[in-house]
Amino acid sequence: MIITLLGTGDSPGTPVIGCHCKTCEDARKNGWERKRFSILVQHNGKNMLIDTSPDLRKQLLLKGVEKVDAVIWTHSHYDHFAGFGEFYRVQKNVIVYSSPEVHEDIARFMFFMKYKTVEVEPYKSFDFYGLKITLIDVNHPPLRRAHGVVIEGDNVKVSITGDTNKDIPKTSMEFMENSDLLIIDAIAPEGYKLKKHMNAGDALRVSKKLKAKKVVFTHIGHFYPVKNNYPLGYDFQTFDFKKVTLNDFMWD
Ligand SMILES: [Zn+2]
Ligand SMILES: [Zn+2]
Ligand SMILES: [Zn+2]
Repeated sequence: MIITLLGTGDSPGTPVIGCHCKTCEDARKNGWERKRFSILVQHNGKNMLIDTSPDLRKQLLLKGVEKVDAVIWTHSHYDHFAGFGEFYRVQKNVIVYSSPEVHEDIARFMFFMKYKTVEVEPYKSFDFYGLKITLIDVNHPPLRRAHGVVIEGDNVKVSITGDTNKDIPKTSMEFMENSDLLIIDAIAPEGYKLKKHMNAGDALRVSKKLKAKKVVFTHIGHFYPVKNNYPLGYDFQTFDFKKVTLNDFMWD
């Protein structure tokens, strides 16, 4: 299993259009950016996307992904589904997994596209070419439903919180416990008061509770100073669980 963070930005991405804060100016000056949220899961020659970022065309071209076999949608926010059309015209018959509620909400925006939906209930695992995938419920108000994803395979467990505040249901916390890699929503540094998301302090406390072996922040806003000590993920960061065993994993 290989996991690649295709985009680690929040909804506006970094740099933010029209923003001249130090972080956005640094991004412009030094040519870096945070694209919108998508995670690529590669296993047994198959490619699965967790969320379809509005930046997906560029992300797939840069990563050299020629085919998408399946998609999971975590929730019905623009930055997580709107890029589905970025590859839809060149590739049909992609299977999209999510809960019935998320499918229903996104379908209202996708009325002009035909795609194959598979409805899955949280906490009921399904198989993806040898990977065990489980959706979990998280808390992302005011949405009625939002999910995280737990992936097990190659003797490792990877948990992705999706967009959530710190009030994650107990059952979901149990599913994410003892992950080898925890990819966690942390949109802003500690101190920011947030209803929909976790700040860095929340994310670190949740990670500790979950006893995660390795923690990477994602869904990162321009609120972070360029230099900081948080475990921020970056676009195209890759975790290759096939090449190395976890013991000698070169965590960067
Ligand atoms: Zn989001
Ligand atoms: Zn900014
Ligand atoms: Zn969201």
